[in-house]
Amino acid sequence: MTLAYVGIGSNLEDPRAHILRAFDELARLPETTLTARSSLYRTAPVGHAAQPHFINAVAALDTRLSAQALLAELQGVEASHGRQRSFPNAPRTLDLDVLLYGAAQIDQPGLTVPHPRMHERAFVLAPLVELAPKLEIPGIGPASARLAQCAAQDVERIA
Ligand code: AMP
Repeated sequence: MTLAYVGIGSNLEDPRAHILRAFDELARLPETTLTARSSLYRTAPVGHAAQPHFINAVAALDTRLSAQALLAELQGVEASHGRQRSFPNAPRTLDLDVLLYGAAQIDQPGLTVPHPRMHERAFVLAPLVELAPKLEIPGIGPASARLAQCAAQDVERIA
């Protein structure tokens, strides 16, 4: 079994409902147990600013799937939420990312783990550190230290 962390984001069509449904779908993935779900966080959009705020969260999974198979499953869940890829950082009904896959460092076409931008994004780090305060990001260092460096980013934990 490998402990993997999945980043979840949505900013269209009732984002909270998409995130809650995504948690349930992650719990039903093959060869996988959902072991923890973070709080939801309301966050300002990064990149393309003229779009609704996001809701973000992180899920912890114990999985026997390979990292590649896990990503394929996540893309299937995204598709079932009507995800369309229009342009980078565009609004999206559901975005699922493999943040971490155990201590693995993977650099393949279509799959980079740890997720390459996770260590500079408070909307990933805040829910991640909530679930795993002492987590080390392979090749980067303590997630909590990176979160402290993102203090200027607008992230609010919601009920
Ligand atoms: P996005 O628009 O954020 O959903 O990006 C999806 C693209 O990123 C897909 O082509 C994936 O193959 C690629 N990708 C690379 N590494 C990862 C990762 N760790 N998690 C999710 N997608 C990834």
